[in-house]
Amino acid sequence: MTDLPPLREVIARHGLSASKALGQNFLFDQQLLDRIAAVPGDLSGKKVLEIGPGPGGLTRALLRAGAEVTAIEMDTRCLPALSELAMAFPDRLRVIEGDALKLNHDAVMGGEPYAILSNLPYNVGTALFTRWMGGEEWPPLWTSLTLMFQQEVAQRIVAKPGSSAYGRLAVLAQWRAEAKMAMKVHRSAFTPPPKVMSAIVHVEPAEMPEGVSARLLERLTEAAFGQRRKMLRQSLKGVAGAVETLEEIGIDPQRRAETLEVDDFVRLARALG
Ligand code: SAM
Repeated sequence: MTDLPPLREVIARHGLSASKALGQNFLFDQQLLDRIAAVPGDLSGKKVLEIGPGPGGLTRALLRAGAEVTAIEMDTRCLPALSELAMAFPDRLRVIEGDALKLNHDAVMGGEPYAILSNLPYNVGTALFTRWMGGEEWPPLWTSLTLMFQQEVAQRIVAKPGSSAYGRLAVLAQWRAEAKMAMKVHRSAFTPPPKVMSAIVHVEPAEMPEGVSARLLERLTEAAFGQRRKMLRQSLKGVAGAVETLEEIGIDPQRRAETLEVDDFVRLARALG
């Protein structure tokens, strides 16, 4: 590992100027990258899926931590630099060229459990997160998500009832998983620096409550938070039977969505389903 050239040199040699269209903001600080790679715990000998390795800063940290890394990158300009890294770590890094939104990640990982780590491009981050958290099959094959988001999105994921950040993303992230803010990352840590602050969120699957359909829960939160200032008896009108069921399970339909605990949404979805 000590033989690897500095990242900035690799970037200059391969002409990897950061592309705005691809949401590229690179991290170079080795200590910070090692701290991010340590968030999921000991990765030694574990399978890791990294989305968007770019020139490979986080990839290096994952390899230093002993992980077996599969990395999906859609910017072909980054592939030569990643091949060099793969050569320095024989059989430890597999690079797949492609769009992570279009690939089946379980299949890419050969059907074996894996941790996901990523400094996500902001534009695809929420789409991937929603997909990872949204499947009917639970627990998923992935064992944890360690993801960089804009701080404001990270706050929405870990938010508790009663706050303005609490909404669909919080329920999605918390009804059958533990979601926590692992660390904040200052915008100056990136090259080029984005306009906003970032944060790392760490999510681990928990037991799924019985008798609840993920799709129905999603429909309920979409309706309830779609008109978050309205009372539930108004916002849930479009979901057949929801308002009556609220009363049956002892939730006042005059309340607004942001006052309900995650567990209240779970109880509603179970009773309605
Ligand atoms: N991981 C690197 C780091 O921390 O310095 C780069 C992070 S940069 C914010 C995001 C990376 O994701 C870029 O390299 C970009 O090309 C890549 N990317 C963007 N959209 C992607 C997609 N849909 N599938 C795979 N990679 C993508």
